[in-house]
Amino acid sequence: MELTKKRSLAKDYKICKRCIYDTSVPSISFNNQGICNYCEMSDNLTFEYGTGNNKGEEILSGIIEEIKRTGKNKKYDCIVGVSGGTDSSYMLHWTIEKGLRPLAVHYDNTYNTAIATQNITNVTKKLNIDLYTYVVDNNEVDDIYKSFFLSNVPEIDACTDIALAETMYRAADQYGVKYVLEGHSFIEEGISPLGKNYFDGKYISSIHKQFGKLKLKTFPNMPFWTFIKWIVIKKIKKIRPYWYLYYNKEDAKTLLKEKYGWQDYGGHHLENRMTAYSHSIYFPQKFDIDYRNNTLAAKVRNGKMNREIAIKEYYETPPHIEDGLVDYVKKRMNFSDEEYEKIMKAKPKYWYEYPTYKKRFERLRPLFTILYKSNLVPKSFYIKYCFPVNYNK
Ligand SMILES: [Zn+2]
Repeated sequence: MELTKKRSLAKDYKICKRCIYDTSVPSISFNNQGICNYCEMSDNLTFEYGTGNNKGEEILSGIIEEIKRTGKNKKYDCIVGVSGGTDSSYMLHWTIEKGLRPLAVHYDNTYNTAIATQNITNVTKKLNIDLYTYVVDNNEVDDIYKSFFLSNVPEIDACTDIALAETMYRAADQYGVKYVLEGHSFIEEGISPLGKNYFDGKYISSIHKQFGKLKLKTFPNMPFWTFIKWIVIKKIKKIRPYWYLYYNKEDAKTLLKEKYGWQDYGGHHLENRMTAYSHSIYFPQKFDIDYRNNTLAAKVRNGKMNREIAIKEYYETPPHIEDGLVDYVKKRMNFSDEEYEKIMKAKPKYWYEYPTYKKRFERLRPLFTILYKSNLVPKSFYIKYCFPVNYNK
């Protein structure tokens, strides 16, 4: 990216000696060996979760037994959210291997690529896993997307993340399931730094209220008290098996292709058109944010990729832009070329300029400390949402 390259010439520019995070990453700091705080965070998580070693295996075996015990007389014992991507598809394979009885849950934001839909069908059919799909009204979701464009914040696709989380909780509740499994791996993806990126149910509703036109009837948002209901009253736990396991994305892809006829879509998060648009076009072009650094830094940090190659890829190769993607998004948003240009040129705004639950999460940190220790919220939620953030950096 042009701007990123210019940054590297800045006076106080620094890059982590171990990964590829540099001074452009929000809230970054370096120890006296020149290693960044995100590398330290990753090491601490590896230690705490026993990632890829006996400790991790033991803890995870205990969790698997607990899931089986709790779900004994129920149709399903766990929920797996699926997108058609590598991590969630492999998670389905893994649950069956471990003797679990998952219900696959998919939130359809109406921007799926054909490959994503095909992957979900192939994997669930071959594994004989039931699929619960929730499809949002396309006009309604487009109205949310449009309101996020008009608000000038980066998180245009945050409504998908919130809606998937809410859909998984609803499905869990409907079938009396107490465990939701998530295919996140900090070894492969890192923990995305909180600074200029944030979302919660209030953020979605406040932006939509200000800039949207339609009434939200089918969009599964998650207001604060609904969130509290799921975690405190229903006690639905969130487990991330890849935080304990040795998980290698490339190996997972090979297995999925061979066993399930799963197809590669060419990059992390690119199985959905809106996600692909936000990562390859909207973030880099409007905000000078290129999230490939999270994945690349994580791979370098954990010895899965050569640092020089990662640096070269990040700084010298722009994100791949799919043909026709901009036109597709413009058409669905009903933006003329002029309107679209105006939005892309408008001054960026950030989450802290709109109402959110952030301050409330910070005040409730003692409660969330207990909740994360009981696996009711992921530790990454606790780290990112419950502490004050230096977002001006
Ligand atoms: Zn680092």
